[in-house]
Amino acid sequence: MKLHHLFFPLLLCWGSFGESAAPDENRASWRDVIPVLVNQQHQHTLAAVEALLERFPPKHTMSLERQAALLLLDNVLFDPEAAEKPALQAFFIVRTKGVVAALHQAPVTRGARICKLYNHGFIVRTPSVTLAFDLVSGRHLGNDGFVLPDELLEDLACACDLLFISHFHPDHADLRIAELFVRNGKRVAAPEGLWETRPFAEGLIYLKRTADAEQTIPIRGGADSVKVINYPGHQGDPVANNVVVVTTPDGLTFAHTGDQSNTGDFEWIDTVSKTQKIDVLMPNCWTPDLPRLIAGFNPVLVIPGHDNEISHTLDQRKPSWLIRERLGDMAGRAVLMAWGECYDYAAE
Ligand SMILES: [Zn+2]
Repeated sequence: MKLHHLFFPLLLCWGSFGESAAPDENRASWRDVIPVLVNQQHQHTLAAVEALLERFPPKHTMSLERQAALLLLDNVLFDPEAAEKPALQAFFIVRTKGVVAALHQAPVTRGARICKLYNHGFIVRTPSVTLAFDLVSGRHLGNDGFVLPDELLEDLACACDLLFISHFHPDHADLRIAELFVRNGKRVAAPEGLWETRPFAEGLIYLKRTADAEQTIPIRGGADSVKVINYPGHQGDPVANNVVVVTTPDGLTFAHTGDQSNTGDFEWIDTVSKTQKIDVLMPNCWTPDLPRLIAGFNPVLVIPGHDNEISHTLDQRKPSWLIRERLGDMAGRAVLMAWGECYDYAAE
């Protein structure tokens, strides 16, 4: 017994003595383990995120569990090196595959199924058409691990009828995706002049930038068409940014704002709802005066995008809690979604 009592405190102390006495090469190897541990922690966190999102799907009123899931995701994404984390790279691919699966699930017979993708990417399916907005592969981050594989991009292109690209910035405009859309016989409404010398340019459409004209884009080889108003938006002063309001053959109307951020443009933003009845608005969450922009469009439903854009520095990223604050008195109209989630919108 006596021996046991003596031995126990020695065991307790071993850690502190051992640490300071450890040879240098051992301490270096411990440091090598840290990225592995961090990655394992991300894996566990993202697995919990997926399980919680599955159990608590997108809704107007956010449960504490869903709020916690989005905050967990914020914490993984709020890292300057997020794109380098293998767990997040895998999550990006799995969540995008989930959208392809959701589009192949039950058919959309009324209303719309709206799927959110990284970064400001959306796919909207109605009974008559499937629209894509600002889809990106992740290639703009310059990290080979954070890029969707070509087969998956092709699956996305095949699932859609038409792609809209708001402006040329690479977190919105992805050459490879545009090329795959065109190669699969799908049209791409591109920003003025973008890729006009590329071999696939014959599949690109350059819409006029005017609030005063309704433009028509044929889909499925001219079997049907969508109506578009291409509002002349801007990112700051210098960058032309197309803000599209698209009406489907079944009479539903969807608006996507790209990187809209120009206070002078409120001159037309404030009046959009006078001529347009918007079902769903997909604004960039960081736009100046988000409640005023929402009021201008006056949509039934708001689904913010461009959250946690990991090519931006931390001060430019917008986590879920900050988007909720930025929505202000418009929060009741909004449904916050994570990458790979879909929401079935029941039109009135
Ligand atoms: Zn952007």
